[in-house]
Amino acid sequence: MTIIGAIDSVITRLADAADNVLIPYKSIAVGLLVAQTAFELYIIRRQLPCYSRPLPPPELKNHMTAEKYKKAQAYSRDKTYYSIAQHIFSFFQSLIFIKGGYLWTWNFAGKIMDAFGISRNHMITYTLIWTVVTTLISGALSLPWSYYYTFVLEEKHGFNKQTPKLFFMDTLKTYSLIAVLGLPVLAGFLKIFDWAGKAFIPWLMLFVIAVQLVLQIIFPLWIQPLFNKFTPLPEGEVRSRVEALATRLHFPLKHLFMIDGSKRSSHSNAYFYGLPWSKQIVIYDTLMDKSSPAEVEAVLAHELGHWYYSHPMRLMLIAQAHLLFTLAVFSVFIGNKALFASFGFDPALAVGPPRAVCIGFTLYQLLFGPIDTFVQFAMNSRTRKYEYQADAFAVQLGTKADLKTALIKLHVENLSSPHSDKLYSMYHHSHPTLPERLRAMDEYTGGNWLEPKAAHPARLATTEQKKEEEREREIEEKKEL
Ligand SMILES: [Zn+2]
Repeated sequence: MTIIGAIDSVITRLADAADNVLIPYKSIAVGLLVAQTAFELYIIRRQLPCYSRPLPPPELKNHMTAEKYKKAQAYSRDKTYYSIAQHIFSFFQSLIFIKGGYLWTWNFAGKIMDAFGISRNHMITYTLIWTVVTTLISGALSLPWSYYYTFVLEEKHGFNKQTPKLFFMDTLKTYSLIAVLGLPVLAGFLKIFDWAGKAFIPWLMLFVIAVQLVLQIIFPLWIQPLFNKFTPLPEGEVRSRVEALATRLHFPLKHLFMIDGSKRSSHSNAYFYGLPWSKQIVIYDTLMDKSSPAEVEAVLAHELGHWYYSHPMRLMLIAQAHLLFTLAVFSVFIGNKALFASFGFDPALAVGPPRAVCIGFTLYQLLFGPIDTFVQFAMNSRTRKYEYQADAFAVQLGTKADLKTALIKLHVENLSSPHSDKLYSMYHHSHPTLPERLRAMDEYTGGNWLEPKAAHPARLATTEQKKEEEREREIEEKKEL
């Protein structure tokens, strides 16, 4: 028996065992939802005492006035209460969907099909209509929340710069984009399931990778300009510093943009994107306003550390592996009649034709989605490691003092929470806390994080020496001519 044959027979055996009407799938889904919500509320609850601490952590005490500290505590406390309320709301929303909401929306989509005289056997059309119906319902339910967050919470603490008009235009644009890009991709997915049958995993993975590559290209070109204005960073000290940094590191910088982040919020940032041979750096106007040129350079030295160590690529590979795992387990549940029946669906939809793959996947996610709670801890621990690496990279480039003041300024200006509960931080933060980062920068004594490439700071000296020699040789040659 070949390996594929062996895997196939294991999957078939597992699938048979799982397709059992005695397994109470719906009750399991409710139980998992309760457990997950309780766990998340417990974690949030642990963070609350941090807001009653009278003093900032020692690393920050010289950089925060008493007034700033009070403001940061009040902002973080408000955000935490908001998050508790939202968790409770979304618990009931999910419960209603599990208890019959999914079935109701499915039947409702069927009635729309009937009204247009389309046979319910056109499963791709049926699924697309169902997706639109559920997206609109959950969108309508989440809209008041995001409105409150922007216009009450952020407004109260002085961060909101949006007008209601801009807010609704953004919402409209987002949903139009989901329709224009998301629905054809979903149709593609369903087509692959139909066409590839049991061997859907490799084809689906290839399709996902292709879609991601296309998105990488069109996102900065067409999508982001719908929301923000990009202007070339004006000539000046920041521009020349960043360009010099890029040249020094052999970073393939094609464009250097400033983005009007201040249109929506006064939170600030900087990032890079693009293909391996042609990159763009984007700096928020808010970062430019609040930091000195040397600090902007230090922030970008950190960002280029992410590039140097291929962090975005590594994260993408991890996401790919996660998707592969999700699909592999799904292949056990894809034709599970008991699962469909447990949620009130016609079991024939599990096997088809026509097969309601999207419903199958949604129900499967109710059972296996909660596993992602643990994946989140692992992902955060990984991204934290990357943050330390990028900080160390910036330190090796000699920007330590400026990076420290830049991060402290950002932290203070953004009113980030001065204290964090350990478990809360492990679950919610992709970055180490500021005191942790400052400490790590001070403790960092050099040494190689990974094998140095040509552009590694440790090797720059020799590269620059070589360049100098080359230049001298050129001059010599010219003299000879
Ligand atoms: Zn970073």
